Amino acid sequence: MSFEDLGLEPSILKAVSEAGYSEPTPIQRAAIPEAIRGRDVLGIAQTGTGKTASFTLPMIQRLSKGRARARMPRSLVLAPTRELAAQVADNFEKYGKYQKLSMALLIGGVSFADQDAKLTRGVDVLIATPGRLLDHFERGRLLLTGIEVMVVDEADRMLDMGFIPDIERIFKLTPITRQTLFFSATMPPEIQRITDQFLHDPARIEVAPPATAAATISQHILRLETKADNVKRAGLRKLLDTEGVKNGIIFCNRKSTVDIVAKSLQKHGYNARPIHGDLAQAFRMETLEKFRSGETKFLVASDVAARGLDIPDVSHVFNFDVPVHAEDYVHRIGRTGRAGRQGTAFMLVTPADGKQYDAILKMLGVKEIDALNIKVDVEPREQRSRADERPRREERGERGRGRRRTRPDREPSSSTREKNAAAPAGDRERPRKNAEPRRRKEESEDVVGLGDHVPAFLLR
Ligand code: ADP
Ligand code: MG
Repeated sequence: MSFEDLGLEPSILKAVSEAGYSEPTPIQRAAIPEAIRGRDVLGIAQTGTGKTASFTLPMIQRLSKGRARARMPRSLVLAPTRELAAQVADNFEKYGKYQKLSMALLIGGVSFADQDAKLTRGVDVLIATPGRLLDHFERGRLLLTGIEVMVVDEADRMLDMGFIPDIERIFKLTPITRQTLFFSATMPPEIQRITDQFLHDPARIEVAPPATAAATISQHILRLETKADNVKRAGLRKLLDTEGVKNGIIFCNRKSTVDIVAKSLQKHGYNARPIHGDLAQAFRMETLEKFRSGETKFLVASDVAARGLDIPDVSHVFNFDVPVHAEDYVHRIGRTGRAGRQGTAFMLVTPADGKQYDAILKMLGVKEIDALNIKVDVEPREQRSRADERPRREERGERGRGRRRTRPDREPSSSTREKNAAAPAGDRERPRKNAEPRRRKEESEDVVGLGDHVPAFLLR
């Protein structure tokens, strides 16, 4: 089946083919015709299955007719994080280049005034994170009564981040006649309840869980005799030196570990950069850009920062830590072996990881994962014990104070933030009071202030 069979207009097909896609993915094949028919869609599919195009393409088709009115967006896409919202905006730009659709983005790190001016002129597509959207709404800057299509992307992640009450509220602010396209990788009871309540007779589209995807991923572990971080870092370097490692994502369980591992790799001459929720938006964007372009070979990441990011063609995934939640293992290794390509996943396993490792084996339904027979030598210099668990001051690239907040390439101080008069005070994707407790503390994406670097397309 080709894109031509889905009922899309020639100008959209042209943009799709110029994007380099020849065949729709299973979710696109199933969702696009239903959405074009005007049906609600409930799409259940893992990261990397092509969900974005499965809602942007039918939306572009529908919105190409008709005109937007001041402060009354015609469609709304809700995404859990700024990066994901920006990716959706990118997709609208790419596939909608032959349509004259207007678009605004309400996310942290993007000027309020610019986006507000766009809203005033009227937008066809409004892309937002839930907290930001409600901020604007509460200020009376927009009406949601003109919404024809509403999309909720990565719903289960919204749940993790405590956004479900916001989503419910937003649903209630939009007209009941809207078309709803709703996507989630999993369907926990809270998500099921929302879809039962707000979707009308949806086409339920479920694509195969990653058991099949994992077939293209060769998985290995490296057993270490101790859980000491310096030994783990030496083990990681061994793995990075394995033949054929082109690039890769290195997952750590904690943001502090992400920082330490990235610094340590840089010190050993590896081209690595950290990405996690405490880093400034501008720094994260720059890191992703560098990784996509190949300038950065290794991305050291936390789960929340990496889930759902559109990072093409990763040959290797490294689990520096065994993930605490077994399902994170699947998300992590799912960053490789995409679209039928071969991928490789490595994991460091220490005696302290027994329980978590067993949970992963159980979830995968296997007795064991291939254990590599590699000896890890720790350089004498590296044999620091307790002190090594924390980064030394010079390792963190700072003079004086030991806080990363003072680093210029990271989040701006609150004074920088206040200086930006156009920015609303509530510049945060705040977890609400009644946020789900499921969210892990270490991973709370406490949102930072305004980055100074904003990609051009966001400002246009
Ligand atoms: P998801 O939202 O399900 O995680 P994305 O929409 O971000 O997935 O797509 C994942 C990757 O696959 C992106 O790099 C995207 O450009 C690519 N992609 C999407 N659809 C196709 C297609 N039909 N053919 C080839 N690549 C595609
Ligand atoms: Mg997505």
